[in-house]
Order: sequence, then structure tokens, then C-alpha cells
Amino acid sequence: MNRVTFAVFAVAVALAALIVVHGGHSGKVLLPEKRESLREVDKMIPSGYSFEALLNDLSLTTTTRSSIVASMDNVYDTSKLTAGHVLSLFTDAATNEVKRIVYNVNADQNLEIQNTDSGDWRSAVKDIPYDIKIETIKGTIDSSVYQTLIDENKDPRLAVLLSEIFAWQVDFAFSVQKGDSFEMIYEARYLNGVYKMPGKILAAKFINSGDPYYAYYFKSDKTTEGYYDENGNSVQKIFLKFPLQYKYISTYFTYRRIDPVNGAVEPHRAVDFAANYGTPVVSIGDGTVIDAGWRGEYGNKVVIRYNEEYTTTYGHFSSFAKGIKIGAHVKQGQVIGYVGATGLATGPHLHYEVRKFGTLINPLSINPPAGKPIDSGDKDAFAKITSTYAL
Ligand SMILES: [Zn+2]
Repeated sequence: MNRVTFAVFAVAVALAALIVVHGGHSGKVLLPEKRESLREVDKMIPSGYSFEALLNDLSLTTTTRSSIVASMDNVYDTSKLTAGHVLSLFTDAATNEVKRIVYNVNADQNLEIQNTDSGDWRSAVKDIPYDIKIETIKGTIDSSVYQTLIDENKDPRLAVLLSEIFAWQVDFAFSVQKGDSFEMIYEARYLNGVYKMPGKILAAKFINSGDPYYAYYFKSDKTTEGYYDENGNSVQKIFLKFPLQYKYISTYFTYRRIDPVNGAVEPHRAVDFAANYGTPVVSIGDGTVIDAGWRGEYGNKVVIRYNEEYTTTYGHFSSFAKGIKIGAHVKQGQVIGYVGATGLATGPHLHYEVRKFGTLINPLSINPPAGKPIDSGDKDAFAKITSTYAL
């Protein structure tokens, strides 16, 4: 590569990175009604920042502050303000008065705090009005789905969505090979003409060592929302395969592990997932919390019981999610706590155990039953989906 093409290449890479980074805080701003008179300033919420600190920064009158706080009653719990999320302030260009505050709650919603014409404040959590475009992407893998997307200048977050859909069919860590291929039809989210992020995957195909796997998104009154293969069978199981998005597995399930500290041979009948501090950890199925609290070497620990057969144990949480206590009911995918290093842990990771009829088994080799197939009354509606999104 000569110097000029390298420079062009570098700029392209930098642009791609910018788009991706910007996409991460997507959808922060809704157009104010009187845009021309308002000035917008965006800031990233710093760590440890509170809503009270925010209001103090704005040098508002005490009356205005309490009016804003009152407007948020039963609308949004400001203790959930999260570092790294974007907050946009709209001030009157002439008077410098704060007219509107928009906090990007998550990928789907904004909290809008608005000064009305009558002078009082109203708050509401609103869906971000993305423009949705149905887009298709195909790729052939050289090293990984992620790398293929990067190489094609596509959003690498699609790789995570694909691996979540086919988590039970394809081992994305070990069995993906050069020459495998994929195709996805998905809702791309745009705001004011700018691409923000992938939305729902409508249909996906993955060919692994010549074997094709299909998944079509479907939901109705009779059929549970989810992904179904070309025959209408669920590609999901009653449990999620992984309880978090992890970086790598730091310790596998083994009956003989040499302890790094004292050299003794001890079993590790669990899997340790290395992940960033604060990474959300979810329940793998619908169940009941049967233990939650500080438990010695486990640190902050949660145990969930799903049915007669299965329980899972999660250790070293930095903190518990709201409402997680003994007796609480949890849904599949519900956040129960956050990765940490409490108890006996050298760094942030999730210690994860699965018990079947009380016996510890390898979490990576469980084979739970599949979810229910498409309801027989939905056959025609599902056939329409598979032909609309033919792969
Ligand atoms: Zn462990």
C-alpha cells in the first residue's frame, strides 16, 4: 500500500470508528419544536454524577429546580442516571434560559423534561422516533463475523445480535470457520438521516461448515415472540446459553484445576466469564430468586431456581439489580446484577454454576428443551414471513 492509499484507508477506518462510536449514544436528541431559537449542548454523563448535581450546574432558581423534580415524579427514577449516556440541554439563544433537557435512557427511549408555554415543567419518557429502513447484509467469513463486518464497513454490533440468535445452534467461539457465511435482514435505525444502530433482526441465515441455519422473527397473540426456523420450530431454548456478554472464558468447568495460589489440585465445577466491571448479568430463564446476598467467597451471590431440575448460581457481583431479593420472580433475560470482583476474585468476572437435580454440571454442555414452535393457527402468517424475508 503506498502512502496515499494508506492515508485514504486510514481516514476510512477513522470514519468507520466515528460512526460506530457515535452510534453507541444514538438517538439522543429529538428536534425541539422551535429549533431556531434554542441552542443545544450535549454532554456525556460523567461517572458518579447525580441528577441533583446536574440541576445545580444549571444555576436554576430553587422554584424551577423543585418544579423540575416534581414533574419527574412517577416518570423516571433519576437515581438510574448512567455514566456515559448523553444529556442534551436546550437553552433559549436570546435569554440563555434552560427550556428543555433530554436524557438518553437507552437505545429506544429518551427522557424529555420540557418547559411549557405556561411556564411549568413536564416530564415524559418517549420512544425515540427512528426512521426504520429494512436493510440486508451478507458476508463470508475469513476469521470472524465481527471482523467480516468491520472489513465491509458495516456495524459490528450486528455480530453480537447474530450470535445471540444462533447461540444454541452455532458455537461462535470455536466452530466458526473460514468460508462460513451469513445473511441478515434487519431494521436499520436512522435519526435525521444519520444511521444510528441496528434494530430488530427480521431474518437471519448462518452457514456453518456447509450446514445452513435459519431464523425468522415472529410474534402473535398465540405464538411467543422470538426466532423460528424455516419449519416454524423455535431456535431458542427455555434457557439462554450465556448469562452475559463476556470477553472470554477465563476458567472452564473441570474436575482438576491447579490452584494458582497454593498449587493444590481442586475442581472448578463452574465457568468463569471475564467481563468488564459493571457488565449486566441476566437470568437465563423464567424463575425465582432463592438466594441473594453476601456469601463469603462468592461475594455478592444470586441463586435462581427455574424448575424442578435446574438452578444457577452467580457470584462476585459488584451490585444487585433493583428488586433482586429472595422470593423475587425473574424473567428470561432480566438483569439480576452486575459483574464485579466481590468475595474471592482476582479481577472482575462472573462465576457461574449450573445445578441439575442439585448436582453441579458443566454450564457449557447443558441441553435444555427448545421453546414452543409456531402455533398451528399461525402457519399461514409465518409462511408469509418466510417468503417476504427469503434468505
Ligand atoms: Zn469461578
